[in-house]
Amino acid sequence: MSIAENIDLIKANLPLNVSLVAVSKTKPAELLMEAYNHGQRAFGENKVQELVWKYEALPKDIEWHYIGHLQTNKVKYIAPFVHLIHGVDSFKLLKTIDSEARKAGRTIACLLQFHIAEEETKFGLSVLEAEGILSSAEYKLLENVRISGVMGMATYTDDENQVRKEFACLKTYFEKLKSDYFSDYESFNTISMGMSGDYLIAIEEGSTMVRIGSTIFGERYY
Ligand SMILES: *Cc1c(COP(=O)(O)O)cnc(C)c1O
Repeated sequence: MSIAENIDLIKANLPLNVSLVAVSKTKPAELLMEAYNHGQRAFGENKVQELVWKYEALPKDIEWHYIGHLQTNKVKYIAPFVHLIHGVDSFKLLKTIDSEARKAGRTIACLLQFHIAEEETKFGLSVLEAEGILSSAEYKLLENVRISGVMGMATYTDDENQVRKEFACLKTYFEKLKSDYFSDYESFNTISMGMSGDYLIAIEEGSTMVRIGSTIFGERYY
């Protein structure tokens, strides 16, 4: 099956309010262009260097999503062009994004990443930590970041109920933050959850943005 056919099959499963980020990490520019030529504009990458060279090599109307763990000393390389940073998992990172966005003359949209999985290895905030950030005086001074929702990754397991429970949990975090901190902000509207193996469950549990790689581009070889 071609990349175009894979995208069409996924899109047929997506409600209109759910957007697709094509996760193109490790894949060469030609494959991204196949998706681009089929109309795909949102691409996700998880390595700063790779994102920068792809940004430079590919059409300028692509929306680049940074979906990986982001080190503060690398924010400056993507701040001039990144569309959405999914993995904000510390106040320090948020503050760095704000200052690099200011230098670049931009406002950068960010998602707060929550730890919802059982695996210790996955990154993310707890609700308490997120509330600590959002209720602080320091946060209110940030002018060049816009928190537009939440992101999370479920446990890598065949246990569908476990995955469903974790996605449902992220949805409740979203609703709580929405009502406590963002009720006046239309732009707080994104729940980024769901990958190749679990995106149908994520949609049932309220995802508005799925991040899909291998189902579009094939398996990754490292
Ligand atoms: C790699 C990755 C994806 C896509 O994974 P697939 O299983 O290939 O769809 C989604 N989200 C994040 C954060 C990733 O690192």
